[in-house]
Amino acid sequence: MHNVAPSPGSRHDSHTAPCCRSCGGRRMSVFLELGEMPLPDALLAAAELSGPEPRFPLEVAFCADCSLVQILEEVPPEQLFVDNYLYFSSFSDGLIRHSRRHALRLIEERRLGRDSLVVEIASNDGYLLRNFVEQGIPVLGIDPAPTQAAAAEEAGVPTLTEFFGAELATRLRAEGRRADVIVANNVMAHTPTLNSFVEGLGILVADDGVITIENTYVKDLIDHCEFDTIYHEHFCYFSCSAVDRLMRRHGLYLNAVEHFPTLQGGTLRWHVGPREDVQLSARVFLEAEETQGLTSSEYYREFGSRVDGIRSDLLELLNSLKAQGKSIAAYGAAAKGSTLLNYAGIDEGLVDFVVDRNVHKHGLFMPGVHIPIHGPERLLERMPDYVLLLAWNYRDEVMAQQREYLERGGRFIVPVPSPRIL
Ligand SMILES: [Zn+2]
Repeated sequence: MHNVAPSPGSRHDSHTAPCCRSCGGRRMSVFLELGEMPLPDALLAAAELSGPEPRFPLEVAFCADCSLVQILEEVPPEQLFVDNYLYFSSFSDGLIRHSRRHALRLIEERRLGRDSLVVEIASNDGYLLRNFVEQGIPVLGIDPAPTQAAAAEEAGVPTLTEFFGAELATRLRAEGRRADVIVANNVMAHTPTLNSFVEGLGILVADDGVITIENTYVKDLIDHCEFDTIYHEHFCYFSCSAVDRLMRRHGLYLNAVEHFPTLQGGTLRWHVGPREDVQLSARVFLEAEETQGLTSSEYYREFGSRVDGIRSDLLELLNSLKAQGKSIAAYGAAAKGSTLLNYAGIDEGLVDFVVDRNVHKHGLFMPGVHIPIHGPERLLERMPDYVLLLAWNYRDEVMAQQREYLERGGRFIVPVPSPRIL
């Protein structure tokens, strides 16, 4: 679920201090360095294993001016999202249910009908918009990934295969299109040109319209040590304070906030609009963030050493299991898994193979560490003693799917917030 505008080039060079992607401020402090990492979604075919593999540094910084947490590196988005991008929203049952509930609520609360327009940015395979199509409500999907856009069209969801930003929004508005609802789920973090993105939201939304934005919550990331959600596709890690400041600079207002603590390790839904109508929920979150210290660099200071601790604990656990002659596989060939494996240096010496439900990934290899990827049925065929759950964000879903593996004596290992055997 990605959609970003192409960036004109590197945002900073070695001669100047990096500036904040949101406010342009230069009071940035780096609090985590994950080292040189391969692109997390750049899965390899067997023939590519001996070839060169680009690596990029991964550093995370806090902006003292607007509180936005962000990575400093900027890999061109075309390279990040279009060439190698194999994520299909419809492979997750939980996400489909969550999206459907949201769509049905919007239809009721906003009284959407045949004269309305619902736009989704990063509409992927149309998993969310099809709920509106079903009820005859006009929709427009926007997503630059051609395979996903084609799947959406096939499902009856008209989709523009483009990056979203101020330019596209201006063009749509010139064609007379204004959105009653704009949905932007798990996309704002993937946007290097954050200001153009938010400006575009303001241009496209109707005067009485609403924009709902979902992204993982930086407080959950820090508190639960979810460092493996930090990778080159995720430029920013948002708090309500950072979102509020960003929106206000573009004439938009953060009016309400919802928290989904178990969705993707902790997700917020921000309700934003061109009219200021700040509800209690938004006030509560903003005040709590001040009190808890999320708007100060202190909050992030210890994170690096905690991440380091997870790496050594996990390696110790896996090495001791190996020493006892146990076999280990892993579940989840997504960016999160790639980040964890590469940061910890876990390769085929420790983990025999990775399984994933996404059939497009079978037969390929994890970037950097070159572990082969198979379908989940491989777990029952091989019965590894342990499965490292890289996709811990889908823990309940995976455990339910793998009941037979568990019944036959298999065990799962979760890596965060601290490595342990379930
Ligand atoms: Zn800033």
